[in-house]
Amino acid sequence: MAQSHPVYGRIDGPIVIIGFGSIGKGTWPLIERHFDYDADRLVVIEPDPAQANFLRQHRINHVPVAVTQENYRELLGGLLEPGRGFCVNLSVDTSSLDLMRLCRELGVPYIDTVVEPWAGYYFGTTDNAARTNYALRQAVRDEKARNPGGTTAISCCGANPGMVSWFVKEALLTLARDTGRDVAPPATREGWARLMQGLGVKGIHIAERDTQDRRVPRPRGVFVNTWSVEGFIAEGFQPAELGWGTHEPWFPENGHRHETGCQAGIWLERPGAITRVHTWCPTPGPQFGFLVTHNEAISIADYYTVGQGAAPEYRPTCHYAYHPCDDAVLSLHEMFGSGRVQEKHHILTEDEIVQGIDELGVLLYGHEKNALWYGSRLSNDAARDLAPYQNATGLQVTSAVLAGMVWALENPNAGIVEADEMDHARCLQVQRPYLGPVEAHYTDWTPLQDRWELFPEDIDPDEPWAFRNVLAS
Ligand code: NAD
Repeated sequence: MAQSHPVYGRIDGPIVIIGFGSIGKGTWPLIERHFDYDADRLVVIEPDPAQANFLRQHRINHVPVAVTQENYRELLGGLLEPGRGFCVNLSVDTSSLDLMRLCRELGVPYIDTVVEPWAGYYFGTTDNAARTNYALRQAVRDEKARNPGGTTAISCCGANPGMVSWFVKEALLTLARDTGRDVAPPATREGWARLMQGLGVKGIHIAERDTQDRRVPRPRGVFVNTWSVEGFIAEGFQPAELGWGTHEPWFPENGHRHETGCQAGIWLERPGAITRVHTWCPTPGPQFGFLVTHNEAISIADYYTVGQGAAPEYRPTCHYAYHPCDDAVLSLHEMFGSGRVQEKHHILTEDEIVQGIDELGVLLYGHEKNALWYGSRLSNDAARDLAPYQNATGLQVTSAVLAGMVWALENPNAGIVEADEMDHARCLQVQRPYLGPVEAHYTDWTPLQDRWELFPEDIDPDEPWAFRNVLAS
């Protein structure tokens, strides 16, 4: 029997999907399933000829060009219609800020999963502060401050950044309940920040373990990943970044603050994808993750700040602690070791993966119950049953895009927003059928445990959750 899926609303006018890689290809069937729209008004802009066959077979309108700084106004202006439709940006190398500005000028709702710059930005300067996600995000926040309200444009609504911000709120409510506090979900940003502060949360890891695996060993010279290789290499070579919490008793020698903007984050003079941190996920328990920079590290630290600027009353530390699939770990090892980016890239498909899950959650630490991991433990097998053309990693992202699109239709004049600023309960209600088991796990682990006693490290025994202890030497 055919499964029935809720239809969340009608999208009149053109739906323009920019980029049809692993995420675009997985988002399309969810749009088809959950919205009422005219299929002949859906257009995909995708320059890679490798996608042309699929698009033709599925009778999807295809514009086979790259969106560039020079052509985007004319190209998108010719495809979008003022006040209708939707622009879904799932590409690399296109400026999220410029595209969202144009969409808002036209009154077209917009969504993306990352603050992406135009091609060349990530490697085009030796000014590492300018290459941070802090700088990219701050430009979007400045645009919001200059032009408040107006047509909804959702910035960074994938799994992370995106869904994990909704998990933080669920985790806070879970922790409040489990520590005997009778709290209603706060209605304001300040209320959420006070709740986190009151619960004694010192910080948050976006703690992820991807165990998806295929049968064939990774060939040398190929970068293998479960999502965009290009995207991962770009962010892996950005400086490591984190939201910097008020409990931190120490400051890293290679750390830098920002003089302007929200000042919620710092960056390290080192690429994120070779900066290891001690972290914890339910499947492995303690593990190393990479401190890869991500928008949510800054946005969450900013959102939950009580006070302002460089010395607020309260702010959590927040960063990504990512153990990608084993083939990606080997790919990083080879790339950084050789000083060369592999020429061949490969994203593991749902059909070649033979086992594994993407365990993606938030580890809230430093409170009276020590640490709580809350997240999705979606297997590739389950993902294959739930939706076509994507692995578990992809589905965690595309279902967040779906949730964001539903929220945008229901809130058409919310202006520029990040996931932290959206209704997390509504978004998770839409997304949850695609997330497999969503679980809360408490642990008594701290970064002071499971160390190698033979080689004493430079640790702070008085503050187990200090970033100094989290950062691996
Ligand atoms: P991908 O590399 O598989 O696909 C990107 C696609 O964009 C490719 O098909 C490429 O041909 C196309 N493209 C490149 N330049 C373009 C241009 N100038 N105009 C239009 N299209 C262009 O990547 P993916 O895994 O599908 O990821 C897509 C985006 O989503 C990336 O920016 C990635 O960082 C982001 N992402 C976010 C999350 C999250 O959780 N927030 C997770 C995964 C991916």
